[in-house]
Amino acid sequence: MFCPCCPPRLTRRRLLASAALLATAGAAPGFPMPPAFAMTEVASGVFVRRGEDADASAENADAIANIGFVIGREAVAVIDPGGSGADGARLRAAIRARTERPIRHVIETHIHLDHIFGASAFAADHPEVIGHARLPAALAARQEFYRRNLVDLLGPEAAGEALAPTTLVADRQVIDLGGRILEITAHDPAHTDTDLTLFDAATGTLWAADLLFVGRIPVLDGSLTGWQAALAALKPRAAARAVPGHGPVSVPWPAAAADEERYLATLAREVRALIIKGVDIDAASRLAMQGERDKWRLFDDYNGRNVIEAYKELEWE
Ligand SMILES: [Zn+2]
Repeated sequence: MFCPCCPPRLTRRRLLASAALLATAGAAPGFPMPPAFAMTEVASGVFVRRGEDADASAENADAIANIGFVIGREAVAVIDPGGSGADGARLRAAIRARTERPIRHVIETHIHLDHIFGASAFAADHPEVIGHARLPAALAARQEFYRRNLVDLLGPEAAGEALAPTTLVADRQVIDLGGRILEITAHDPAHTDTDLTLFDAATGTLWAADLLFVGRIPVLDGSLTGWQAALAALKPRAAARAVPGHGPVSVPWPAAAADEERYLATLAREVRALIIKGVDIDAASRLAMQGERDKWRLFDDYNGRNVIEAYKELEWE
């Protein structure tokens, strides 16, 4: 997950050069951070930063997920605070460049660090931190490991960490930003076992987070059949657009889910066939899904892992 060949010291020096600029832009002080940080307003008051299609590195400060915020009449909700304290600080600066309204909610859409380790940059805002009902258990199991890896990569100040959720969602919940309702849905295990999606009724925007990967290979860390079921349940939702967790900041819904659906269906079909043939899990991880190789970025980094996850789930059917 972390590239060992990046030169963090050299990169950190370069990142520090932009820290002063950020402090004047209203970011939490003390975080080194790379300069480019472009938000796209995908619908009125809905801002998204596109993550880089890469693994976490010292150079990208783990800014690899799509993150953003929604501005209501009275308050702001952050939907995924970023992949590191440095990433979160830049997101906070981007919010403050647009509005002084209070940042009242931080939604942590699932356990993966590239989405939630920026949360600590919002601690001084004392937001309501919203997560899946299973997120506390997932944080207890993984946060320390994630933090160690990110500190090695970025240093202790820039690494950041997730915030413990103050509100847990087991099914559905709404928050009101002042005449603007965000509906939050908790899913059964799919991409992970802690997935939330959001719907902004004012603009018809479905914030799918990592239930939707576009262009970058999906990563299976929950349940393959559960993910297929979650997508099938989401697809009928009438939405003007969706915001994927990785890929373009705004895509047509449900058309943009077609590639991911095909990948997941192919994964299920090919892995089941290899299990029936008696092919072992290691060989399966090398053999399966080769027809998908040229269709996804980072295919070689994650496909083998996906096959292993699928195999472990499907061999007990
Ligand atoms: Zn994820």
